[in-house]
Amino acid sequence: MTKYSQLISFIRSTFHEPSEFIPLHDPRFIGNERKYLLDAMDTNFVSSVGEYVGRFERMCAEYTGAKYAVATMNGTAALHASLVLAGVSQNDEVLTQALTFIATANARSYTGAQPVFIDVDRETMGLSPTALKAWLSENTEIRKITRQVSSNVSLGGTSEAEGAFNKTTNRRIAACVPMHTFGHPCKIDEIAEICAEYNIPLVEDAAESIGSYYSPCEISEGKISRGKGKHTGLFGEMGILSFNGNKIITTGGGGMIVTNNEELAKKAKHLTTTGKIPHRWEFNHDITAYNYRLTNLAAALGCAQLESLDFFVSEKRKLAEQYAAFFASTSIQFFTEPEHCKSNYWLNAIIMNNKEERDEFLQYTNDHNVMTRPIWNLMNRLPMYAHCQHDSLENSIWLADRVVNIPSSVIVEGYRK
Ligand SMILES: *Cc1c(COP(=O)(O)O)cnc(C)c1O
Repeated sequence: MTKYSQLISFIRSTFHEPSEFIPLHDPRFIGNERKYLLDAMDTNFVSSVGEYVGRFERMCAEYTGAKYAVATMNGTAALHASLVLAGVSQNDEVLTQALTFIATANARSYTGAQPVFIDVDRETMGLSPTALKAWLSENTEIRKITRQVSSNVSLGGTSEAEGAFNKTTNRRIAACVPMHTFGHPCKIDEIAEICAEYNIPLVEDAAESIGSYYSPCEISEGKISRGKGKHTGLFGEMGILSFNGNKIITTGGGGMIVTNNEELAKKAKHLTTTGKIPHRWEFNHDITAYNYRLTNLAAALGCAQLESLDFFVSEKRKLAEQYAAFFASTSIQFFTEPEHCKSNYWLNAIIMNNKEERDEFLQYTNDHNVMTRPIWNLMNRLPMYAHCQHDSLENSIWLADRVVNIPSSVIVEGYRK
């Protein structure tokens, strides 16, 4: 067991924490958080109306390069609303990862649609375009969409539209939801291309990856080159971000829908704010909508946090470099950002040699007051999703047995909770 004692010393000295508990990820409030929060309280606008919500939305749009951003009460709500807007409903199917946080699966469940769990790539831990393509070509066929999708809420659908249908279940594949695991972008340009080919709306779960960029492949005059990095969440119809307490920046609880589609952005705002038709005093609502809005207090916190995001990302990338150097001389593999990406390194991850070693490691580190956690259990192993269709999930199973997250908070000298 002493084989891990060097790591414990390394982590303790890196985090300047000789004896106390070291969490996996703690927030850091080092900027205008108190100022903006007090300002929101002083103006008495603490709830669903107030200038910080709009300001936070504009800041997120500007930061990510999205044309539009719509704030929500959490990332799960943002994902649920996005799927509704994409036209996902009961009797549809959604292609997604088995290796993800439960929120991805829950948001889809709220629409009534069934999941199909597709494998991930080992080098990204995100949805595998190879597996996606293989599953689609084997299991689907293109048919006419006959069901009218309400255009009042969703992207809409006309009787002439064509879509991919699952040959076995006869259900329409209504969306694809890849996730950027721990902030590392998956091969999103290839996924976007496959989705376009099969006419499947793409909704990115970028909850963990604000601050992460992927350089899409560009082919001009037969030559392949890489474009400038594009922020995750902007490769499909919509993407969602999360500002939960454990994410790289936090609003306490919060989420955001990002999109370049003006119509979707407008519908997203309407759907997440009770579907009220604007009027000075009348209460009129034209759809059954949600109260998913972000509070002004949360948005105030978000504005301040976003001002620190570039600093957080650069500090996290430095920490990842230190970890990489440490693990280089061990038998444990440190997970580094995939090719053609700039990752926010939200949660650092290591890959153990097998499940027994993983369990031994989790036991030792947690016993020594250093918080570590395994990657999530696969969705298809949970009782609610045990009956759902999936492919071989070979890489997902392999990673689920081996991946462990290690302490990843931003290190700020002299920061005291
Ligand atoms: C955090 C997270 C979400 C959203 O979670 P909320 O707590 O609702 O903000 C969604 N998907 C993934 C993969 C996440 O990690």
